[in-house]
Amino acid sequence: MIQDSRAVDELKHARTDLVVANHILFSTGVVDGFGHVSVRHPLRPDRLLIARSVAPALVKLDDILELDLTGATVSHDDRGSYLERFIHTEVYALRPDVGAVVHSHSPSVVPFGVVGDSLLRPLYHMASFLGAGAPVFEIRDVAGDATDLLIRNRELGAALARSLGKADVVLMRGHGCTVVGPDLRTAVFQTVYTEVNAKMQVHAQALGPPTFLSVGEAAATNATNASQVGRAWALWKAQAEPLCAALQAEAAGD
Ligand SMILES: [Zn+2]
Repeated sequence: MIQDSRAVDELKHARTDLVVANHILFSTGVVDGFGHVSVRHPLRPDRLLIARSVAPALVKLDDILELDLTGATVSHDDRGSYLERFIHTEVYALRPDVGAVVHSHSPSVVPFGVVGDSLLRPLYHMASFLGAGAPVFEIRDVAGDATDLLIRNRELGAALARSLGKADVVLMRGHGCTVVGPDLRTAVFQTVYTEVNAKMQVHAQALGPPTFLSVGEAAATNATNASQVGRAWALWKAQAEPLCAALQAEAAGD
């Protein structure tokens, strides 16, 4: 019985944090009307939690759906999730270490996906998770040159997950990027700092050839940052909270 209530609490906590993550990603400018975030189900590793197909800034608790790794909605709920949900399902299937996934069209990141020789690399310590540089997924390599660039099925999702490999960030040429982390807060942290790093890298490259973090420096600072994720989350949550609260109050009044 105690175990049951602990499980209920864990699920409730994961769902609430996922709503907050949606609002943080909007208020930090990483997503607009598009983009999505998911978290692996805390009790069922073969499932994930993600919103129904709605703009991140409008996500409420009631919008959170449970999907299996084929992309099907598990709960008796006919509201569909995002068209590109296969980004999430296939990354979870390939990477057991991943606990959360964010897909966005992060505006400063997109240019790095379309210039083959200008790798997105860690310019400073907050983006150390970029390691040796973010790989680029070229959809033409797997689906030809007449797609709409969206990850519409499991095959494309699996190809994207293979491009991600062991990295935490994969750029998607002409589209956006996908960022993963061992947990939701880390995935959000890394998504925000991928955007910040991209912006700074453009500035630095205009001044001259940057000195990036070495692989050793990136690994060392990554270990340091792991203990600091909560600090950024607390700030971003406080910034995003008024919007969350307003939406929940509106939903309660429906
Ligand atoms: Zn997209």
